[in-house]
Amino acid sequence: MRQKRDYYEVLGVGREAPEQEIKSAYRRLAMQYHPDRNPDRKEESEEKFKEITEAYSVLADQQKRAAYDRFGHAGVSGSSGGPDFNSSIFSDFEDIFGDLFGFGSVFGRNAAARGRGAGAIDLRYDLEISLEEAATGLETKIKIPRWEACRICEGTGARPGSNPQSCPTCAGRGQLRHQQGFFTVTRTCPQCQGVGHIIRDMCNQCKGEGRVNTERVLDLRIPPGVDDGTRLRVAGEGGVATRGSIPGDLYVILKIRDHAFYERRGNDLYFTIPISVSQAALGADVVVPTLRGEERLRIPEGTQSGSVFRLRGLGMPTLEGRGRGDLYISVFVVTPTRLSRDHRRWLEILAPFVRISNLPLERRAAEKVKDVFG
Ligand SMILES: [Zn+2]
Ligand SMILES: [Zn+2]
Repeated sequence: MRQKRDYYEVLGVGREAPEQEIKSAYRRLAMQYHPDRNPDRKEESEEKFKEITEAYSVLADQQKRAAYDRFGHAGVSGSSGGPDFNSSIFSDFEDIFGDLFGFGSVFGRNAAARGRGAGAIDLRYDLEISLEEAATGLETKIKIPRWEACRICEGTGARPGSNPQSCPTCAGRGQLRHQQGFFTVTRTCPQCQGVGHIIRDMCNQCKGEGRVNTERVLDLRIPPGVDDGTRLRVAGEGGVATRGSIPGDLYVILKIRDHAFYERRGNDLYFTIPISVSQAALGADVVVPTLRGEERLRIPEGTQSGSVFRLRGLGMPTLEGRGRGDLYISVFVVTPTRLSRDHRRWLEILAPFVRISNLPLERRAAEKVKDVFG
């Protein structure tokens, strides 16, 4: 990976820049480098767009900005940028996510808490994939209906060439204050709805709203090792709620379809195969399916029903990209049925040699067997 650039440099602002300046620098650059506006240089602009979104997500957050000022990139590593699958940063949303289904929900609280202003809409998209796709990772396209900044007026709502004017009611502050006894009460300016400016000459495309409702197709890269419920954050690909606001983030929630025979526990995979009495008694080589193709499994002589074999490293890859889980194969011995007269005769000959005492298993031994099955 190449060296990360300084976040202030990325946004082209000074180290002392006030919040408002950082916000407008981000808006200007995001407009300029949005991949959809640069179809002929898509990859380059995508990189650039991610870079500025990452820089913004740190500098717009007071705490993160302070950490960045003191420790540089090390102070904020893993906290932002690109698809993000560090589950800890999502813990804030657990309670909100619980109530949501479908698409297009607003996380107003979260947006405000993260210093993006009230104008960001975080979107949720549910995506179902197979276990094999979860193992290899996947590149796919998803279609997102969302509100995004109007491209004609660059989100201002004003006709290009004209300028929005400072709101006369609140003098551009977006809020009105008045004294009520000992208290100062603040409320959102009714004329500009808190934006601070008003549009006299409206943009035709968005009717002055500064945003348009559209359906966007996004490229999505799912890393190997994702699990049921994994949330991928795609920074800056959410919606905008109001004129001139910054887009929220898109959260892709993954569902892994049930597999025909694999059962997954963490990064390990399990399945069961039947073996015959003679394979169990004499030993055998059997061919078993794995994620990377067929493998030979040696069943040793005298294998009991319920025995579990482990194939190391043939489970799921880890999301961190280091190592893999294991594959556990349990066997059960199938008792022959519908015997012919000859077969029956052979088993009767065998019977005296395989006699065992049919006493109940001691509890501890019985529990052990259960453990093996989990
Ligand atoms: Zn417009
Ligand atoms: Zn106003």
